[in-house]
Amino acid sequence: MSTGLRCAVLAAIAGCLLAGCEREPVRTTVIPPRHAASDSVAVAPPPVVTVPPATAPATPPITQAPLPTVRNPGDREGAELLAQRTLLVPVVGIAPERLADTYDQGRGQRAHEAMDILAPRGTPVVAVDNGRVAKLFTSKPGGLTVYHFDEAGRLAYYYAHLDRYADGLREGMELKRGDLVGYVGTTGNADPGTPHLHFAVFKLGPDKKWWQGEPVNPYPALRRAAPATEITASR
Ligand SMILES: [Zn+2]
Repeated sequence: MSTGLRCAVLAAIAGCLLAGCEREPVRTTVIPPRHAASDSVAVAPPPVVTVPPATAPATPPITQAPLPTVRNPGDREGAELLAQRTLLVPVVGIAPERLADTYDQGRGQRAHEAMDILAPRGTPVVAVDNGRVAKLFTSKPGGLTVYHFDEAGRLAYYYAHLDRYADGLREGMELKRGDLVGYVGTTGNADPGTPHLHFAVFKLGPDKKWWQGEPVNPYPALRRAAPATEITASR
């Protein structure tokens, strides 16, 4: 088993354990009140027994790793919105620790303002968050791309260079985190020898145009995201 895969498996196990902690049922013991002996003369009302509120079993606090430092978080409000989302790494089998901050790298005349996640051609690409498919678009630089809006319609997630879309993927379709959207490829201007997912996030403007927004660095949020270990078919 490769180190990356082992990391992903360990992370998945850790995730299950944490999820298990949260689901731990609260057990309370109810002690029935003592009844006065039948032959005694009850003169005083029964005492009011105050039952202390049930307390959850002591669990160690779940500490999240601090945000990694990035040179440029992108749009500040967008970065704050993104930090509040519970995300999945968009490429199946990639551990968050393997991601690199390539947001500020130069790409020709302009800044990259995205992340490149290298993976073999055909590796499943999944939705990082809940939301809907806003646009399926083929562009010269991006090739086969998906624009995915979050549920509140405030952030857009952009997946590019896809080899192909998931079967049945269509605009307007609801997406759940982990739903299959496509497969890693090199469409558009990607080097045919370096299949990867180009993944970007931007904060949408008030009119929510899929082609317009303020770029946000996805790296801090994806470093804290859960690895995608399996896919679910999008509906
Ligand atoms: Zn890229």
